Amino acid sequence: METAEIVRRFLTYFENNGHTVVPSASLVAEDPTLLLVNAGMVPFKPYFTGQRTAPYDRAVSVQKCVRTIDIDEVGKTSRHASFFQMLGNFSFGDYFKERAIPFAWDLMTRPRDEGGFGLPVDRLWVTVYLDDDEAETIWRERAGVPAERIQRMGMEENYWSMGVPGPCGPCSEIFWDRGPEFGAEGGPLADEDRYVELWNLVFMQYERGPGETKTDYEILGELPKKNIDTGLGLERLAAILQGVDNIYETDTLGRVLHRAAELTGIRYGDAERSDVSLRVVADHMRTATMLVSDGVRPGNEKRGYVLRRILRRSVRNLRLLAGATEDQTYLHELTATTIDALGDIYPELRDNADEIHNVIDTEEKNFAETLRSGTALFTRAAEKTKTAGSTVFSGADAFQLHDTFGFPIDLTLEMASEEGLSVDEGTFQELMREQREAAKRDAKAKKFGGADIGVYTRLLEGAGATDFLGYTDHESESRVL
Ligand code: ATP
Ligand code: MG
Ligand code: MG
Ligand code: MG
Repeated sequence: METAEIVRRFLTYFENNGHTVVPSASLVAEDPTLLLVNAGMVPFKPYFTGQRTAPYDRAVSVQKCVRTIDIDEVGKTSRHASFFQMLGNFSFGDYFKERAIPFAWDLMTRPRDEGGFGLPVDRLWVTVYLDDDEAETIWRERAGVPAERIQRMGMEENYWSMGVPGPCGPCSEIFWDRGPEFGAEGGPLADEDRYVELWNLVFMQYERGPGETKTDYEILGELPKKNIDTGLGLERLAAILQGVDNIYETDTLGRVLHRAAELTGIRYGDAERSDVSLRVVADHMRTATMLVSDGVRPGNEKRGYVLRRILRRSVRNLRLLAGATEDQTYLHELTATTIDALGDIYPELRDNADEIHNVIDTEEKNFAETLRSGTALFTRAAEKTKTAGSTVFSGADAFQLHDTFGFPIDLTLEMASEEGLSVDEGTFQELMREQREAAKRDAKAKKFGGADIGVYTRLLEGAGATDFLGYTDHESESRVL
């Protein structure tokens, strides 16, 4: 089943059940506490907090999401993309658990010729929060899920709040068993790689007070109006319905992946290392294309920095795949493939194609220049190391490469290893830490009308923005490229 058809079925099912179809909001969040939209509920947040009254009782959407917190997982797990789409149904003080659970189960298991996804019941598992007997009863009695395939999970996984006083409540999630070849028996509690999380149902039931950490706060009482917020990963469902092992091989991402393989002359499936790189490239090119289309431009701060970082990682991985050929550029081709693959779902990509190409091509050229200058410094430092009879590339040089030329540490490690050198990573990390601290001090000084902050603030802003994360509280960007 093609991605476009999955979307159509999801929307139709909930529309037939009284939900208003709401188009995806831009990735650039209106919410000032948030860098980029990272969950389907984000555009509805004012309705959940009571700041605004929802113009409908029930809504359904397919929301574009970017999760920077997952960037490092991309290509390594079968299920994390940096850009993905969240299918969701929402109730604003209307139905609660007693309808949300049967809706989800019905749509997942209903035969395909009756408008459902037709997933075999014996491959599905369910989790509920520790004390949510109400949800467990509904799963068993209304949906017919056997008791042995319902597991209980704690606060970390199955309890939701916005990280601040306001609505909170237990969750329930549906998981898919990929089969014995992917890990140990025993349900989602036993193995999260074999049992893939598909759909999160959030039951906004209580009101929470203030608290220091994600899980430490007082529950003040029941909400007068209870809400439902759900999120189903479109790419994860597509992987199942298309019979592929991971989300990078589904119809839209797979096209970009195979084009990257073609361009670099690498066969996908030949080696784990190049497979990871191909998956990273496919993912990052899609994310970059979507970000540029929503108005983000490469820069050294915040959203612009996210975009810059993923474009650089694409270039870097393409070079690893093809062998470092400085004058070869691939991003234009891959952007074109991405626009083509997603253009039916997001027609604005075709309308904005020239601008998208322009932005990405320019950034690729600039990074190539950076790489050239940085490589000259690297070569001098490597020679110095060898002349001194050492095999350890200094942490200070690695830091300078990072600081001045934006070299990610893995790039320096890679290049050093090609020269038979290791890198003094301890010193590198120490210098990075000192710089972060200086940045924090300077930011404070700025707050109190203090001194010159220059480059440090830039780094801090690029690295330290606090994101509101729909289901999982806060995420903070702690890593600089
Ligand atoms: P996981 O535990 O797998 O990281 P999550 O609990 O962080 O997922 P939720 O915040 O509950 O995810 O989001 C709702 C749904 O969105 C998930 O059940 C999943 O299907 C999908 N999803 C979440 N993160 C990603 C991602 N990085 N790439 C693709 N799909 C995702
Ligand atoms: Mg996650
Ligand atoms: Mg999870
Ligand atoms: Mg979840």
